[in-house]
Amino acid sequence: MPRALILTLLLASTLTAQTPDWCKSLPRPAYAKLKRVQKEVPWFEVYQVAPGVYAIYEPHQWEEVISYLIVGKKRALLFDTGMGIADITQPVDRITKLAVYVLNSHTHNDHVGDNWRFSHIYGMDTPFTRANAKGSRADAQAEIAPGTLCGVLPAGFDRKAYSTRPFRITDAVRDGSKIDLGGRVLEVLATPGHTPDAISLLDRKNDLLFTGDSFYLGPIFLYRPETDLAAYEKSVLRLRALAPQVKLLLPAHNTPTAPPSYLAKLAMAIRQVRSGKAKGNPQDGKVDYPFDGFSLLLAPHK
Ligand SMILES: [Zn+2]
Repeated sequence: MPRALILTLLLASTLTAQTPDWCKSLPRPAYAKLKRVQKEVPWFEVYQVAPGVYAIYEPHQWEEVISYLIVGKKRALLFDTGMGIADITQPVDRITKLAVYVLNSHTHNDHVGDNWRFSHIYGMDTPFTRANAKGSRADAQAEIAPGTLCGVLPAGFDRKAYSTRPFRITDAVRDGSKIDLGGRVLEVLATPGHTPDAISLLDRKNDLLFTGDSFYLGPIFLYRPETDLAAYEKSVLRLRALAPQVKLLLPAHNTPTAPPSYLAKLAMAIRQVRSGKAKGNPQDGKVDYPFDGFSLLLAPHK
C-alpha cells in the first residue's frame, strides 16, 4: 500500500473516532442561505441576518450557541456573549467601533461566557442571575467533555483553567425596559420558564423577536431544576401573541432565523406535553417530546 494512502486511511480513522454524531450533520443547511460576513476570525462564524443584526455562531461546540450583535446609531447591544471559549470581542470589534453593552437572554453558562470582558452589562435582578454572576467551573468543564467538540479548540485555549468567569451587572432591566441604541429601540420582555431570568428582546420597528432559549429549532431544554414549566407555558403564550407583529425569530441555538409561525406550534406543543397528551421518548434519563422542527426535552415525571 502506498505510504500516502496508509497515512490518509490512518487520518480518516482518527477523525471518525473523534467526530461525534451531532458534528457529522454540520453545517446545518439553513446556513447556506445566510450572508456570512467574516471568515478570518477562528472559532466563530458571523452572519448578517438583518440590517444591523449579526449572529455570532459557535459551531465547534455542541451547544451551537448563537449570540447577537445589534447595532444602533449610537451604541450596540450584544445579546449574550457565548461560551467564553474564544474571545468574542474579536468578531464584535470587527463589526462596530461603537460602545458595546451586554444583555443576556438568561444566565446559563453558555450565554454568559465572555461577559467578564465587558464593562456595561444589563441584567435581570433575580437570585438566579446573582448566583450565576459569581461564575462557576462545573458547567463550563462539562461543555468540553468528550463528544462535545467538533473540530479544534482555539489556539492557546487552556482546558484545565476553563470556567465561567464572574461578571458584574451594571444596569438592572425588568419587563418592559427599553434600551435605546440610537435609531433602534429594544424592548425587554420577561419570559421566565427555561430559567427564572429568561428574557426575550423585541425590536418593534424592525419586526424582530430574539427568543433566547425559550424557542429554537432543536431540542429545547426544559429539564433543569431551575425550569418552571407553568411559567414557561405562560411566556410562550405571550410570545405567540406577538407573532403577527414580527417577521423573524432569532433564537439562541443552532440556526439564527426561524419564521414566527413556530410560536403557535410551540404553544400547542407545551400545552400537549403539560396536559399529558403528547408522547415522549426516553432519552438519557430525560423525556424528549418531538414536534415539527423542534422538541421539548423534559425531566422525567414533570
Ligand atoms: Zn439555557
